[in-house]
Formats: sequence, structure tokens, C-alpha cells
Amino acid sequence: MNLILMGAPGAGKGTQSEKISEKWGIPAIATGDILRAAIKAGTALGKTAKSYIDDGKLVPDEIVIGIIQEYLTSDACKNGFILDGFPRSIPQAEALDAMGVRIDAVLALEVADEKIIKRMSGRRVCTCGASYHVDYKPSRTEGICDKCGAALYVRQDDAPETVTKRLTTYHAQTEPLKAYYAAKGLLVTVEGQEEVTDTTRLVFEALAKFTV
Ligand code: ADP
Ligand code: ZN
Repeated sequence: MNLILMGAPGAGKGTQSEKISEKWGIPAIATGDILRAAIKAGTALGKTAKSYIDDGKLVPDEIVIGIIQEYLTSDACKNGFILDGFPRSIPQAEALDAMGVRIDAVLALEVADEKIIKRMSGRRVCTCGASYHVDYKPSRTEGICDKCGAALYVRQDDAPETVTKRLTTYHAQTEPLKAYYAAKGLLVTVEGQEEVTDTTRLVFEALAKFTV
């Protein structure tokens, strides 16, 4: 199963991709996590990416396309994968097609902008890729990752002004992908719920018809 997960920033893609990854035993590839790891490591890629991310913009297509190509051709992806955060623009989707990568389904998580803005202020993340929310998905010990024990932090791009910019970027550059994949008969839409478990149930129901 080769799956694309799309949705506005903070719609819950990371959380749901974790659930799908556990259930199906396929890796989730999150371009945002890869870019943040590069920033932390201080690589040239990280330095370039940081200026775009902190400004609520997309990192240039060539950069993320290169990253994705490297991952998708690795052995870990041979039984399937979940793309979380890629493609995020029409040129990225076209590049994926040009690589000859088969996509089985595109799941769009729908959450209204007002809710996103509220959610983002409570988001806490870990360098291992895990993410939490102080109200909706708290870690067992406050401020500490359940998975790896590291200290949780607030992403710099979760500042309210940047969230607004990211939403604008999403509507302008990423949302057109819904029509792109609907035209290929691949799009399935799920409304994000207040409770993570409710969303997960709807996600699994929606994907069931693609896994037979
Ligand atoms: P969210 O979905 O919550 O916005 P991500 O971790 O997926 O968070 O992405 C964080 C930032 O990383 C984005 O705002 C963007 O700047 C950059 N980014 C991630 N994936 C891509 C991509 N496919 N193309 C361009 N930029 C990307
Ligand atoms: Zn962790």
C-alpha cells in the first residue's frame, strides 16, 4: 500500500500516519521531520530549509523532491509507505508521477482553519518524530516523550503568526492537489474529529476499501 496523507498544517497527519504505520507495518516518511532533523544537524540542507520553514513557506520543490526520491528507492519502502507532507504542490505531485511511483490512495484530513489555529498552540513535539497535544494527546509525563524519553518542545513555526502564513500557503499551493488526485480516482476525504481515536476509526474505515 502506497499512501499519501494530506491536510492542513496541524490537521493531524503525523498522528494518523503513526497509527497507519503501526497497523500496516509500513514506514511513514514525513518531509517536515526530515527537514527538522537536517536543521538540528546543521547541514547545508538544514540551513536552506530553515529560512523557508520559519517564514511559513514551502521549501523549494527541487530540495524536497530530491529527499523523497532517496527515501522511496530505499529497501524500507519496498512493501509500501505513507507519505506525510509530500507532495505539497502540483510540481511535487508531477515529480512523483515522473519517478514512476505507484500511488494507491490519497487521504485528505479536513479540519477548519479556526480549529487548526486553536490546536497548534497546544502542540508539543519530539526530535524522534512523535507529537503530542497538551489537551488532546498528552504525553504520560508532562514535557517528556513517551517513546524515547527526550524533552518535548514547541516548534518555532507553530507561533501564531507563522501558523496563519502556513495556512495561506496550504490553501494556495497544497489544496489544489485534492482536485489533481480526485481526477485520478485516488482521493478519499476524512473529517478530523475532536478525539484522535475517532479520527483514526474513520481513517481506517476510509482506507479499508483500498486494502482488499
Ligand atoms: P505541518 O504539516 O504541521 O505544517 P510539517 O512538519 O509537515 O508540518 O512541515 C513543516 C514545514 O516544513 C512546512 O511548513 C514547510 O515549510 C516544510 N515542508 C515540509 N514538507 C514539505 C514539502 N513537501 N515541500 C515543501 N516544504 C515542505
Ligand atoms: Zn521522542
